Amino acid sequence: MPSLKSYNTFGVSSVCSEIIECTSVDSLRQVLRSNPHACVIGGGSNILLVNDIDQTVVINKLSGIEVKHLANDRVLVKAGAGVVWDDLVNFCVSKSYYGIENLTAIPGSVGAAPMQNIGAYGVELKDVFLDLKAMHRNTQEIHIFNNEDCQFGYRSSIFKNAEKDQYVITEVSITLSRIKRLNTSYAPVQIAVDHLTEDASIEDIRNIIRDIRWSKLPRPSNLGNAGSFFKNPVISDSQFTVLKNKYPNIPSYPAQNGIKIPAGWLIEQAGWKGKRVGETGCHEKQSLVIVNYGEATGREIFNHAINVQSSVKSIFNIYLDMEVNIVGAM
Ligand SMILES: Cc1cc2nc3c(=O)[nH]c(=O)nc-3n(C[C@H](O)[C@H](O)[C@H](O)COP(=O)(O)OP(=O)(O)OC[C@H]3O[C@@H](n4cnc5c(N)ncnc54)[C@H](O)[C@@H]3O)c2cc1C
Repeated sequence: MPSLKSYNTFGVSSVCSEIIECTSVDSLRQVLRSNPHACVIGGGSNILLVNDIDQTVVINKLSGIEVKHLANDRVLVKAGAGVVWDDLVNFCVSKSYYGIENLTAIPGSVGAAPMQNIGAYGVELKDVFLDLKAMHRNTQEIHIFNNEDCQFGYRSSIFKNAEKDQYVITEVSITLSRIKRLNTSYAPVQIAVDHLTEDASIEDIRNIIRDIRWSKLPRPSNLGNAGSFFKNPVISDSQFTVLKNKYPNIPSYPAQNGIKIPAGWLIEQAGWKGKRVGETGCHEKQSLVIVNYGEATGREIFNHAINVQSSVKSIFNIYLDMEVNIVGAM
């Protein structure tokens, strides 16, 4: 049975019945026609393979980037779902199309970006998203979803909720600006920009963010991981007041439905930062990142995540929702 070790950034060993790389919409249609429940993977940077997969795995390789110039110095960029997200960012930076440079170096594919409305350094996909094409798994018909249809939220979309496992995304369109507009709202980015001798360019912002990112996060090529394992929880004002009395230094940010608490801080307070348990553990610099020291199984990583989740729940009465998609029976 073929191995998926090189198809997931945790580097977990798992096998499946077959791996099919789809390079065209027709080939995807053919696979889904005979196997509508096939497991679809892009870059494998947001999945944890807990078990072997007793079915076909489709690797999305739909390629191509198209550009159309619009009125008012806007530009429409359409990309195949299998395009590497960072290749799209670099393409747009090289053309000075402003809007996604802050999302530099996020691993994975274009097609998975809407799944959790990828975001970083003050920008989310939804800020530039126009629409996407997706193939319904059962009918193999292509449907178009605009920004509103996708119901984007913090690391979420309709594809993680009401329409979970119903569609395979085949193409994503975004609109960007040809007029210089930089987002330096994240304080360390602004500090780095202040150190430049000339006005920051789009390349400067991309490079600054890439450097900040890799100074904090382990590269999956060195240490298996899937980025943040949990979402930052949002709690009510009243729960926050209680916690603030007990932990005066608790960090917090205003959010749409309450107060957002950094999950990394909660995990660190619970004593997990840098703690290794067998072949897995929470990273020494960023406790929100669970790592594979080499030979961890998906089950071992999953059990570690559950232990972290339960200890944060028992100490703070806060439930940490997993950001990483668990593949296989729990
Ligand atoms: C080091 C590191 C840093 C990261 N930093 C960030 C960050 O800053 N911000 C952020 O938001 N994320 C971040 N991530 C998470 C991850 O990179 C993103 O979620 C990315 O969009 C996942 O893309 P992928 O192609 O690897 O998805 P995969 O892991 O292959 O798949 C993720 C999920 O989407 C489904 N899926 C994949 N492709 C399709 C498709 N075409 N149609 C339908 N379903 C599909 C899969 O079945 C799976 O459920 C990081 C990950 C790592 C390893």
